[in-house]
Amino acid sequence: MTDSPVYLDHNATSPIRPEAAAAVTAALRVTGNPSSVHGFGRAARRLIEEAREQVAALVGARPDQVVFTSGGTEANNLALRGCGRRNILVSAGEHPSVLHACEYARTAALESNGVVRLDMLRELLLAGDGPALVSVMHANNETGVIQPVEEVVALARSCDALVHCDAVQAAGKLPLSFAELDVDLMSLSAHKIGGPQGVGALIVGDRAELDPVSRGGGQERRRRAGTENVAAIAGFGAAARVVRDGPSGMGELAELRDALEAGLASLEPAVEVFGAGAMRLPNTSCIALPDSRAETLVMALDLDGIAVGAGAACSSGKVEPSHVLTAMGVLSEQAAAAIRISLGWTSTRGDVERLLDALERTLRRRGAARMSAA
Ligand code: PLP
Repeated sequence: MTDSPVYLDHNATSPIRPEAAAAVTAALRVTGNPSSVHGFGRAARRLIEEAREQVAALVGARPDQVVFTSGGTEANNLALRGCGRRNILVSAGEHPSVLHACEYARTAALESNGVVRLDMLRELLLAGDGPALVSVMHANNETGVIQPVEEVVALARSCDALVHCDAVQAAGKLPLSFAELDVDLMSLSAHKIGGPQGVGALIVGDRAELDPVSRGGGQERRRRAGTENVAAIAGFGAAARVVRDGPSGMGELAELRDALEAGLASLEPAVEVFGAGAMRLPNTSCIALPDSRAETLVMALDLDGIAVGAGAACSSGKVEPSHVLTAMGVLSEQAAAAIRISLGWTSTRGDVERLLDALERTLRRRGAARMSAA
């Protein structure tokens, strides 16, 4: 009997939760355009409004602040392009959907532990032309490093700037309150919390005046035109409810992550854990083994039935070193070795043990190959 596959790539997509899958399936059977006034339309509208309440409740926002989008990427684009400000400051570790949302954005560098340089953010704010929007993510998708959002907000407020926070990776992994964080815009994505892919939300606070980027329809209070993806939104709502009402499981995940990193260090004392000097999400380890290539390791683990992420981005067939690690000052050779192990609601101690066993075999094979080549 072969072992079942081990999935350790939750930061890419977390497996759909049964409650979310059931909500999607049920909603697909509901006929009706949520903008129609007849009974069919009203039934579809009810599904959306229920999900809006569930998503709002997950992140401590009001339902009327939730704008459903096609995912985190669109939410980020809408925030940066729709906020009506041209003085945009972002951190160098942001997701590409923030970094590339507008070509006029200016970038604050990262410390070597992955945290945004607040001194540089301050300089950029003071040197800027016109009212600014600062976009700093809550937690990084590659390293799990948590950003000092409260300090960013305090800094931004002292300069009359708005704050956008990409909380796609923080939602469900950290206590998250839009009201308490006091940011103006916040992005979420369903598939990172066990909902379906292709749906997300931008939370819009009272200070922000959002201009729609997609136009030609009055949906989402005129903030995002286009018929809503009712089934996906229903699934998002169900996932949000489960995450909010269920046990957080994050203490257990932090224990598993620590066991994983301790196991790695005993297999290979020279293992590098990126961002280890900063506060990190409890589920994420971005690591590099010496003299290794991420693609080779990811493929070797895949052959062993274990899915992990590569720390490098593969665009147009060319593997580029991660911009996040590069911004942390990691040398390109080490960045090219980075793999990301991200745990989640399906992860078990057995998964971590399988990964460590597979890595041990890989390291042993590599050692043997080197001996015979010498
Ligand atoms: N922001 C962060 C931090 C992410 O990790 C991701 C996805 O990996 C996104 C935004 C984009 O979200 P989506 O896949 O829903 O477009």
